[in-house]
Amino acid sequence: MTTTSSHAFQPVLERIAEELEHTPGRGRPADYIPALAARDPRSFGMAVAELDGTVYGVGDWREPFSTQSITKVFTLALELSREGDTLWEHVGREPSGNPFNSLVQLEYENGIPRNPFINAGALVVTDRLHTRTDDAAGEFLAFLRAESGNPRLAFDEEVAASESAHGDRNAALAHFMASYGNIGNPVPVLLDQYFRQCSLSASCADLALATSFLARHGIRADGTRLLTRSQAKQVNAVMLTCGTYDAAGDFAYRVGLPGKSGVGGGIIAVVPGRCTLCVWGPGLDERGNSVAGVAALDRFTTLTGLSVF
Ligand code: GLN
Repeated sequence: MTTTSSHAFQPVLERIAEELEHTPGRGRPADYIPALAARDPRSFGMAVAELDGTVYGVGDWREPFSTQSITKVFTLALELSREGDTLWEHVGREPSGNPFNSLVQLEYENGIPRNPFINAGALVVTDRLHTRTDDAAGEFLAFLRAESGNPRLAFDEEVAASESAHGDRNAALAHFMASYGNIGNPVPVLLDQYFRQCSLSASCADLALATSFLARHGIRADGTRLLTRSQAKQVNAVMLTCGTYDAAGDFAYRVGLPGKSGVGGGIIAVVPGRCTLCVWGPGLDERGNSVAGVAALDRFTTLTGLSVF
């Protein structure tokens, strides 16, 4: 079946959910953040948002979940829109080929993280956004509320506290980069901002809508421009090459779309000029990507023919 007409999204989503029902093995929820470990790996939701704000969904698509690393896309967009190209002197744009929380490359690369979608890179971006705005997490939350049209979106203080209590790895990354002068704020201040940002609770519907500016080539929900067309292309390109950590090659191969995952089990994806997607299944593979999420996006692009290739 190959179709690109909008009304066909709903049957495609229902078919994917039905197929997944019969697929054994959903992976395991992240447990290094204890507050995430309790989610049921059989939960599944998927939403598609068209550029005009129409949303199609299936399963638990209105159920809020912990967005985690998906948030790295939005802070990158916010900081890039303000700072422009000098941001790339502080964070690279190459796939890391290493786990999302790895330290190893930083020593060889003078405290400059490989890309903005691994933890080290996101810490640099959040640090710079915080210096510029005095409230990175607040800026981020206001943006997500505006783009999703959901004023009730909020941080989950329990998840943020749970991650903070187990945050030695991120603290090590931040201190190490600070030793190279690549972090400007006191590390505890930065970590507080970063953990709050990661703890945002949002549904597939919220996130599909909030991602739409990337499918609209940089135009926000209110019609104003956040990113230049070129910057929107850049963010989408970095999502394609780096958005799923050391599985980015496999994700591009299977799904063929810019995408960004989080250890809460969510993945957002962009069909530039057409629509955005968000899928959620809390069970993860060994690289920290949602098993059901990758499978569902793989089926979506196969069934609809919608990919960037
Ligand atoms: N908050 C998580 C962390 O920093 C985000 C990681 C992720 O979603 N991959 O470890």
